[in-house]
Formats: sequence, structure tokens, C-alpha cells
Amino acid sequence: MPHFPATDYTLTDAGTAQNRIGGRWVAALSGDTLGVLNPRIGHDMGRVAMSDAGDVDEAVAIAEVAQVGWAATPIKARAQILHNWRVLLEAHLDELSWLVAHENGKIVSEARASALKGIECLEMAIAVPNAIQGGILEVSKGINCQHRYEALGVVAGVVPFNFPVMVPMWMAPLALIAGNAFILKPSEKTPFGMCRFVELAEEAGLPPGVFQLVQGGRPAVEALVDHPGIKAFAFVGSTRVAKLVYGRATALGKRALCLGGAKNHLVVVPDADLQMTATNVVASSMGSAGQRCMAASVMIAVGDVQDIVDAVVAQCKALTLGVEVGAIVDADAVARITQHIDFAVAAGATLLLDGRNATPPADAPDGCWVGPTVLDNVTPEMPAGCDEIFGPVLSIIRADTLDEAIAIENDNPYGNAAAIYTSDGGTAEYAISRFEAGMCGVNVGVPVPREPFAFGGWNDSRFGHGDITGADGYRFWTRGKKVTSKWALSSDNTWMS
Ligand code: NAD
Repeated sequence: MPHFPATDYTLTDAGTAQNRIGGRWVAALSGDTLGVLNPRIGHDMGRVAMSDAGDVDEAVAIAEVAQVGWAATPIKARAQILHNWRVLLEAHLDELSWLVAHENGKIVSEARASALKGIECLEMAIAVPNAIQGGILEVSKGINCQHRYEALGVVAGVVPFNFPVMVPMWMAPLALIAGNAFILKPSEKTPFGMCRFVELAEEAGLPPGVFQLVQGGRPAVEALVDHPGIKAFAFVGSTRVAKLVYGRATALGKRALCLGGAKNHLVVVPDADLQMTATNVVASSMGSAGQRCMAASVMIAVGDVQDIVDAVVAQCKALTLGVEVGAIVDADAVARITQHIDFAVAAGATLLLDGRNATPPADAPDGCWVGPTVLDNVTPEMPAGCDEIFGPVLSIIRADTLDEAIAIENDNPYGNAAAIYTSDGGTAEYAISRFEAGMCGVNVGVPVPREPFAFGGWNDSRFGHGDITGADGYRFWTRGKKVTSKWALSSDNTWMS
């Protein structure tokens, strides 16, 4: 894939996102391709190969050979190659940011932030040899017990459209530093960013076949899950699909970690700081046009916080489509989001700000747009109160007490994130120790843990054990070997001799 030349939002042809197998760009064996939309412009920017089981077979066969040499490369040397990759990614940050902005529809500053977060995950992997290696201990006279982390072999990951390069970087660096060969199936809606990432990894010295791409949709995913050569499988996407693939992988006895969707609640109590809270609620719910699993889609207003609600609405009104709020991924998603707003209004919610039929940016009239929307008096039973909308829609649920608010958050089946806005430490601790969510915030609306603190939700937001980044992520891609050895060759009288 050639350098992506865009330096603004003008429609730019990216060609065809092909499979990267054995260090070469190859078409899917079927020859099938699908159009890839630039959501901002509303026209295709290229095509993507649509692979099936035959392509997966080929990738696994090559990976099995490449992995042997990669695992035999000392971990410090593997880390050096990942470090070189990091240098190249930073050097290409502008290009990568524009590429993500084009394929996903994000505004470019958000695309850049997502690439930087991906690079942070790479830093975590580079630090593994220094930070999370096994240990050795003399447990008895002359006898050492040692714990080693060993590679699993060939492993795979499948990712969603909303963070085309960040989410893959939760997986790939930790899988690679462990000595595995990694096969990624990007979203067919956003297949280009990782083409450049993989190309730069090979330029940095990663041997061909160690990090491969198989493009496509459901048939490629199912082939990866089913292939006996794939030893571990990670997935990030909607809860419906996460559940399906987790069940399929574990029925085959595979190690699997599958992250799903979310419905995150921000609980605002009367002692919350007015300006900070309002700005934060708006950033959390409208950032990435609401298309992120950490978006606050519900604000639970406890007691009288009307001044904060008013400030939220005023700030949402001031946001400009295409400048501060990016595009929606496709027309189907626009229809789903607007239908949610229609249903909520029909069910009795109060529309404080209506983003349906918002005026598109002048330079992008054919794009997929929904303006910031705020619904008040939503109930937890309405679809807007309990379903993941995945758009720039903030639902406000009113509650009389903090306990009622916590119960609303905890009754929701998801468990990705929850946050409390307060200026009282005791109130904050009371709430976060009761929230049924894997990632909690105090006066922080997008409580994404920075590395080395690991990312992962609870309940219907995650199927499997452990987090996907941090030390858990590394452990997921490895198996522990325990070695007990005696080299002193002296006799002793313990039961271990
Ligand atoms: P999606 O579930 O539709 O697709 C995700 C991946 O699964 C894609 O690569 C797609 O090709 C594949 N896929 C789709 N249908 C499939 C099927 N029936 N069988 C097998 N594979 C299938 O998700 P999306 O629309 O791309 O992304 C948005 C979703 O991802 C949201 O629900 C969001 O909350 C979630 N998400 C979660 C996290 C998290 O960390 N928990 C992070 C980012 C996104």
C-alpha cells in the first residue's frame, strides 16, 4: 500500500486494502472486494479484499513457519524491532492520522489521539522484557523454581471499525513481544490504517509472516476462530458478535477474550463542579461522535443539577459538525441513531437538542452526519436508556438519590465504564466501590486507563477472563512454564531432593 498522500479531508483514493501474507500484498483467493466508504465525504475511497477460509489457511501456514524463528529471537532483540517500529510510527503520525480520519470519519485531532494511544500500547510491549518477566527463586537448598512466559504459536485478533489502529494495537504488540505470530482481521469498514502499520512494522525489521492481515468480514472471522492452528483469539466489537465468537472459540477449547459493547453512565450529584462537569460530559458523550465503547451515553442527574444540564445543552449547541464532531460510519448507522431518537421522543422523552437532519459541513454535504442530541426525562426502560446507541446522543435520566443512580447503572447488563461527578471524596468512593463496571471515573468521563493500567470491562462488555492490555494482555498471549532445577548438585535433606 503506497504512502497515503492526504493532508486534508479531500476525498483521496486509497486503492484496495489487500491481505498481507508472507510480506506480500495479495488479493483474496476468491477475488472478491467490497467498497470502503469515506463517511465524511459519502463516497468510496477504495475497496477491501473479502477473504474466506482459504486465505486464512494460507496465512496460518506461513505464520507457523515464521513464528519459529521469531520465538527463537531473544526477547530484547524483539523489543528492539518494536522500538524501531515505534520510531517509524511517530515519523508517519500525520499520514496515519489522516488515513484514520478518512476511513473512519473522525476529525483529524481524534484520529491522531487514537494513533498515539496505539503507540502507547506499543511502548508497553517494548517494556515487557524489563517489567513483566517471570521470576526465579531459590526455594530449597540449591533448588530454583523459575516461571517463564512462553509464546503460544500463531494467534489472531478481530477488531471493530471505531478505532481502526488503536484497538489492533491493544493486541498486536503484546502478542508479538511474547514471540507469537499474529494475524489481524481489521474491520471491513476501516481496513486501511493497519495496512500502513504492518508495512512500517516490516520496514522496522519484523520478519515477513510474523504480523499478517487477512481482510474481510464474517467468513474470515469464523475461519480464524475455527482454524486448529490458531491458539488464542481476541475480539473487540459489539456484544452480539463478541458473545457468538466467544462461544464458538471456547466450544473448540480455545483461549478467547472477547470485548463487547457498552452503556456507560455518568452520575452527576449537586456538589459537582459546574463548568468542569458540563465540559467533561459533553466531551465524553459527543467525542468520536459517540462512536466509542467508553462514551457516556447516559447522564444520571441526581437531585437538582439543572444548572449543569443547561450548561451541557449550551455547550452541545455550540459544537460544529465536521470541526468538533466527526461523521457517522455509514448511512445504516445514521438510520439506527435517528430511529433511537424517534423512539425516545415517542416514548415521552424531552428533546432538549435535536441532531436529526443537522446541517452538514459545507464541504461534505453527502456525508453521514448526526448532530449532537440531548434527550431529557429518559427512563432506564426506554431503548435510549438501556441500548447502546453508538452516536452523539446523550440521554439524561433523573434520579432522586445517589443509591437510585447507582442501581440504574448496575441494573444495566453492560459493565464497561461508569463515572461520578462530585467534589466530595467520600461520595466518590461510595459510588465507585458500588459500580458494576470494570473502568470507573471520578470527575473523568472517559476513564480509559493509561498503560500500564489495563483496559477491560465487566459483565456483557467482556467475555473471557482478564483485561486486554497491560500485564493481563501479555499473559493472555503466553503460557506459563514452571521449571524446578537443581544445579548445586549437593545433597540435602528436604522433600525436594
Ligand atoms: P461489530 O461487532 O459489528 O464488528 C466487529 C468485528 O466483527 C468486525 O471486524 C466485523 O467484520 C466482525 N463481524 C461482524 N459481524 C460478525 C459475525 N456475525 N460473525 C463474526 N464476525 C463478525 O462491531 P462494530 O460495529 O465494528 O464496532 C462497534 C462495536 O464495538 C460497539 O458495540 C462498541 O461498543 C464495540 N467496541 C467495544 C470496545 C471495548 O473495548 N469493549 C472497543 C471498541 C468498540
